[in-house]
Amino acid sequence: KMDQRAWKNPYADYDGNPASVQELFDSQGKLTAEFAGRLSNAISQLLMHMENGLKSADPRDCTGYTGWAGIALLYLHLHGVFGEPSFLQKALDYVGHSLTCPTRRRDVTFLCGDAGPLAVAAVVYHRVQRAQESDECLSRLLQLHQSVVMGSGASGLPDELLYGRMGYLYALTFINQQFGHDKIPIQYIQQICEAVLISGEAQSQRFRCQDQSPLMYEWYQEQYVGPAHGLAGIYYFLMQPGYVAGDERVHRLVRPSVDHVCRLRFPTGNYPPCIGDNRDLLVHWCHGAPGIIYMLLQAYKVFGVGQYLEEALQCGEVVWHRGLLKKGYGLCHGAAGNAYAFLALYKLTHDPKHLYRACMFADWCMNYGKHGCRTPDTPFSLFEGMAGTIYFLADLLQPLKSKFPAFEV
Ligand SMILES: [Zn+2]
Repeated sequence: KMDQRAWKNPYADYDGNPASVQELFDSQGKLTAEFAGRLSNAISQLLMHMENGLKSADPRDCTGYTGWAGIALLYLHLHGVFGEPSFLQKALDYVGHSLTCPTRRRDVTFLCGDAGPLAVAAVVYHRVQRAQESDECLSRLLQLHQSVVMGSGASGLPDELLYGRMGYLYALTFINQQFGHDKIPIQYIQQICEAVLISGEAQSQRFRCQDQSPLMYEWYQEQYVGPAHGLAGIYYFLMQPGYVAGDERVHRLVRPSVDHVCRLRFPTGNYPPCIGDNRDLLVHWCHGAPGIIYMLLQAYKVFGVGQYLEEALQCGEVVWHRGLLKKGYGLCHGAAGNAYAFLALYKLTHDPKHLYRACMFADWCMNYGKHGCRTPDTPFSLFEGMAGTIYFLADLLQPLKSKFPAFEV
C-alpha cells in the first residue's frame, strides 16, 4: 500500500561498502570538498530565496518557531559554521526586530514564547561584545523563571516543549551551550525539572496509570507522545546528566515512564502521536519515530540497555522508508527534520550507513521545491520552512557537531 503522506524513497540504501560513499565522506565522516561545496552552494541559493520570501512574512511574529527569532538563530548558526561576519550582522538585525514584538499571551518558551528572542539576543550581543545588552537580556530571561517553577494548578503552565516548562528549560540550556560554561547555574534547571516531576506524578495519579507510568503529561486534553508537545521530549530532558538532582528518581520515575512510551510502538517501529490514537500515519519530528529517537538514544546512554538502541535503529529504518514527506522540507514535519534522526544515530554509532542516509536526505532537500510538496503556512520560517532546511544543510557540514535546533542538548 502506498504511503499517502510520503514519497517513495528514490535513493539506493547504503550497500555496506565504504568505497561506495567515498564521493560523499571519508572513513572519519569528513565530507569531501566536492560534496561540502555542493552543500555550501545550495545554502547560498536557498538563503537568497529565503531573504526574498521573508519580505512578505508576518512582521509581528517574533518566535523561534515561525518568526524572526528563528531566522536570527539560523544566522547565528551560519556564523558558527562559516565564520562570516555578515551572518552575525544579520543575526543581530533579526534578533533586534524579534525583541520589539513579544508574544500576545507572554508565552515563556524558546520556540513559541518570549524566551527565544531573549536567549538568542543574549548570545548574539555576547558575540558582538555588547556585554551590557547581553546581560540585560539574560536578566529579563531569568525574570520568567519564578512563574515557570510555580505550581501547575494556578499558573496553568503545561510541561511540554512548545508552550510549557521544558521550552523554558531549553532556553537556559541554550545559554549554557553557547557561553560554554554554566552561565546559568544548574540549580535553575534542576528547579524546573523538579516542577515537571511533581506535575508528572500528579497527572499519573489523576489518570490512574502509576503502575505503568509513574509520570504522565497532557497538553490540551491529549497525552502527546512526540517531543514537541509530549512525553518523549519531556523525558529526553529529564534524562540529561545533572538535570534531575539525584539519580534515584531518574531510575524510579523516568525510566519506567520511558518504557511505557516504548510499549506504544507499532509493529512497523513507528509511534503514535497520542496515547490511544492507533493510526500509524505520521513520521515527523513532532509526531512519530523521527522525534522519539532522541528519547531512546538518551535512555540507551543513561541506562546502558541495548533494547533502547535497537528501537532507535528501528526508528532510523522508518525514517529512511517513510521520511521524505509530502509536507515539505522543514524541521518540524519535513525531510530536513527527519534527516536529523540519521545524524543522531551517526553521532552515537559512527556507522557510515546513517551519515550516508543523512546525505541522501540532504540531496533531496537541495532539490527544494522540485517534488511537488505542499507549501507550508510560513514557507521561509525555521520550523516549517526554508530556514530550517538551510539550518540542516549547514549542520551536515559538521555531522558530529550537529544538533536538532531548539531541542537537542
Ligand atoms: Zn510538526
